Amino acid sequence: MPNSVSHRAVSLTPGEHSVSLDKLSSNAIKVCERLHSAGFEAYLVGGCVRDILLGKQPKDFDIATSARPEQIKGLFRNCRLIGRRFRLAHIVFGREIIEVATFRGPHNGEQAPSQTNDVAKADEQGQLVRDNVYGTIEEDAVRRDFTVNALYFGVHNGKVIDFVGGLQDLKARRLCLIGDPETRYREDPVRMLRAVRFAAKLNMEIDEPSSDAIHHHAGLLQNIPPARLFEEVLKLLFNGQGLLTYELLEEFGLFAQLFPQTANLTKIVGSREARFVEQVVINTDNRINNGQRVTPAFIYAALLWYPIEEATAQYQIESGLSPADAFSMACSSVLSSQLKRIMIPKRFSIPMREIWHFQHRLSKRYGRRAYQMLAHPRFRAAYDFLLLRGQIEGGDLFELAQWWTDFQEANNEQRKTMLDALKQSSPSKGRYRRKRKKS
Ligand code: ATP
Ligand code: MG
Repeated sequence: MPNSVSHRAVSLTPGEHSVSLDKLSSNAIKVCERLHSAGFEAYLVGGCVRDILLGKQPKDFDIATSARPEQIKGLFRNCRLIGRRFRLAHIVFGREIIEVATFRGPHNGEQAPSQTNDVAKADEQGQLVRDNVYGTIEEDAVRRDFTVNALYFGVHNGKVIDFVGGLQDLKARRLCLIGDPETRYREDPVRMLRAVRFAAKLNMEIDEPSSDAIHHHAGLLQNIPPARLFEEVLKLLFNGQGLLTYELLEEFGLFAQLFPQTANLTKIVGSREARFVEQVVINTDNRINNGQRVTPAFIYAALLWYPIEEATAQYQIESGLSPADAFSMACSSVLSSQLKRIMIPKRFSIPMREIWHFQHRLSKRYGRRAYQMLAHPRFRAAYDFLLLRGQIEGGDLFELAQWWTDFQEANNEQRKTMLDALKQSSPSKGRYRRKRKKS
C-alpha cells in the first residue's frame, strides 16, 4: 500500500543507503548539529534525501526539526522567520539558504487545546490557507506531499527513516501522494504542479490514484494566488525537462489553467502554435543543459505571442484599428488577462513588451536604424525571438531572421553592402519617402 498513511516505519543504517555527510552541504550539517546539541530533533528531509538516494545532486537542503520557529531563531543569528501560510525559518549563509521547518501535525480539529487559535485554517474548497500546527516526526511525514519526499536523514546517527513507504516507491520510480489524493490536492492544489514537475524531472511515473485526481481537480488551481503561481511555473519551465513537463501539463489539463489564452491555440496537435511552444521549451532545455542563461521574459513572451497575433487581427477587424494600434492594444490586453492567473513581475513584463514591439521594428532595417537596433540592449532577445518565429513559420520571417544573422556576422564593408542592396530592392527606395497624394 504505497500511499497508506499507516505504513510501518523503516530505518536504514549508514551501510544500507547512499546518503553520507560528504554529499551534504556543510552548512546544513552545522544547522542540524546545533539544533541537536540544543536538545531538539533535527533531520534533513525532502528533495535533498530523495535526490542523493537517486544519485543526483540536490538543489537545496531542507531541515525538519522539533524546535519551534522562535526557538530556531534563538539559536541562529543569521535566521529569518518567513511565511504566514506556512511559517518557517531561513538560515542564511551567504548565498546559501537552509530552510528549517518545525514538524507539522494533523489539523482536522485534532490539535492540542493550546494550538486551537488560528494556526490551521482551510477555506471552503478545502484549501489550507494556514498550516502551522506542530507535531511529531511521524505526523510531519504524513503532512508532506509525496512518499519519496518524506524521507528523513539524521546527521547525528547516519540513518535514513521512512514512515510512508517512500523507499519502495523511489526504487519503483513511483510518485504517490500520501493519503487521499482529492483531499491532498484540495488542501494545496499546487501539489498537482509538483506531481508533474517531479515526474518529468526525476523520470518517475505518477501512480494512478494521484494522476486520476489531477484530471478531475485541475480547476482548483484557480484558487492559487497569481504570485505563488509565478514561482511554481518557473520551476516547471526551468527544470531542464521543460518539454516533458509541458507535455504532461497539456495532458492533465493543467496548461489550460495556467495559460488559458495559449492553450486555446495549442490544443490542436501539430498546429503552428503548438510547435512554437514546443520549440521554445526545447530551446530553453538546451540552454539550461548547456549552462546558458535563461530569462522568464523570453519564454513568457513566446507563450503569449500567438494570442497577441490573434487579438491583433480581431482588433483590426472589429474595431477598425490600424495594425500598429491593434498590436499595441493586443499586447496590453493579452498580458493583463494573463496576469490574472500568473503574476509576472514588472522586471520581466517590461522586457516582454520590448521583445514583442521589437518584432515589427526588425523588419524596418534601413540605414542607421539597423545599427541602432543592433546596439539596443534588447536586440539579442528580440533577434532570438525572431529566429524562433522564422524556424516555425518559414518564408519571409525565416529570410528576415537570416538577414539579421548575416548582418551581425558581417564586417563594416559587408554591412554597408547589405543595407545598400536592401535600399535597391525596396519598393519605396528610401527611408522616409511617402507616396504623394495626387491633387
Ligand atoms: P526540489 O527542491 O528539488 O524542487 P523538494 O522536494 O525539495 O524538491 P521543496 O519545494 O524544496 O521541494 O520542498 C521541500 C519538501 O517540503 C518537499 O520534499 C516536501 O516534503 C515538502 N513540501 C513542499 N511543498 C509541499 C506541499 N505543497 N505540500 C506538502 N509538502 C510539501
Ligand atoms: Mg528542496
